[in-house]
Amino acid sequence: MNLKKPELLAPAGDFEKLQFAIAYGADAVYLGAKRYSLRAMAKNFDEETLRKAVRYAHNAGCKVYAAANIFARNDDLTSLPEYFSQISQAGVDACIVSDPGVFSILRDAAPEMNIHISTQANNTNYMSAVFWQRLGAKRIVLARELSFKEASEIRDKAPGIELEYFVHGAMCISYSGRCLLSNFMAGRDSNRGACAHPCRYKYSLVEETRPGEYLPIEEDSRGSYIMNSKDLCLIGFIPQLIEAGISSFKIEGRMKSAYYVAATVKAYREAIDDWFSNRSLYESKKGHYLSELKKAGNRGFCSGFFEGGPDSSSLEYNFDGGDAACDFLGTALSYDEKSGLAVIEQRNKFSLGEDLEFFTPHGKGFTQNIKVMLDMDGFPIKDAPHPKQLVMVGASQPVAPFSILRRPKKIDD
Ligand code: SF4
Repeated sequence: MNLKKPELLAPAGDFEKLQFAIAYGADAVYLGAKRYSLRAMAKNFDEETLRKAVRYAHNAGCKVYAAANIFARNDDLTSLPEYFSQISQAGVDACIVSDPGVFSILRDAAPEMNIHISTQANNTNYMSAVFWQRLGAKRIVLARELSFKEASEIRDKAPGIELEYFVHGAMCISYSGRCLLSNFMAGRDSNRGACAHPCRYKYSLVEETRPGEYLPIEEDSRGSYIMNSKDLCLIGFIPQLIEAGISSFKIEGRMKSAYYVAATVKAYREAIDDWFSNRSLYESKKGHYLSELKKAGNRGFCSGFFEGGPDSSSLEYNFDGGDAACDFLGTALSYDEKSGLAVIEQRNKFSLGEDLEFFTPHGKGFTQNIKVMLDMDGFPIKDAPHPKQLVMVGASQPVAPFSILRRPKKIDD
């Protein structure tokens, strides 16, 4: 069987994350322009940065998809035509929309633009896929709530449209995009990209005549997070997804760090490439991919709806998440072969004498004891007190561009 390699699609919350996604192996990135994207809190891209991002990505052979997938209100519509011609002129490869009105404005304003139908449109069946195809959409992003069996059936019955499938990242406890928890509890509209994630909050039980007496729902000193879904992780199901003909494997997380993007993209890049080069290599490395994914922030992993549906084991009751088996300490900006010094932009504190790891876009990376640490004037220092401070550290091996300095914690395989 001649199988097509799927596209690996990564989140790009800002220009830096886009660079890391590309360096670590993404075939395409999705991003939000300043308005109309479902990630209001991500830094997003203004017109000029968007042009720069598209140029940068295209030079690296990577595609760029721009999200305009809010549930638009009347007031949003007026400026949409101008916005769509801007992103079209910037050269993005496709625009992601969910609303039929927005779809229609896009068709008129930029008729040549490829259109992807967002998961916000709740694409749950093959007739919906055929409907969007007939209207001219190139791709649909399948609802996260679909099982693999349902996704495969859509593939069979709607062969003329590309299918994008979420393989990794945070899950909503509600139907994706149909949740008002954040609107009610924090006054922030989750359907306009401003979700405050109240499903991750810690909840207790209160008897109505005893206000202030919080009864734990579970007997656990850390409380109970009754709506806190584990993250989706389908690294173990790569063969099924490829054989089913899924066109694009999507990683969630435009709000996550550059390190998260790098680590996740690298694990999936490796898994896909390994499977295509040697099936048994992929099988033998499943534990390795998972262990690498655990080194970036996560709430524990589950397979979501892939195998039929989540159950209570898909929830993380004991903590609100963000746990990672490695601390993200900094990014390598440059390396000088003569002096053996790498310039690091610090993200979290590290100190002279520590055993740290250079995580690299290609290959295994290496462990480095920090024996030399200098400020940018060349004076020895023991640590760097300010976030984003530039420091030079001695490295025993060349440090590739976009390498990441991280501190391993205890790894739980
Ligand atoms: S509150 Fe939770 S379930 Fe609701 S939209 Fe936000 S992340 Fe999703």
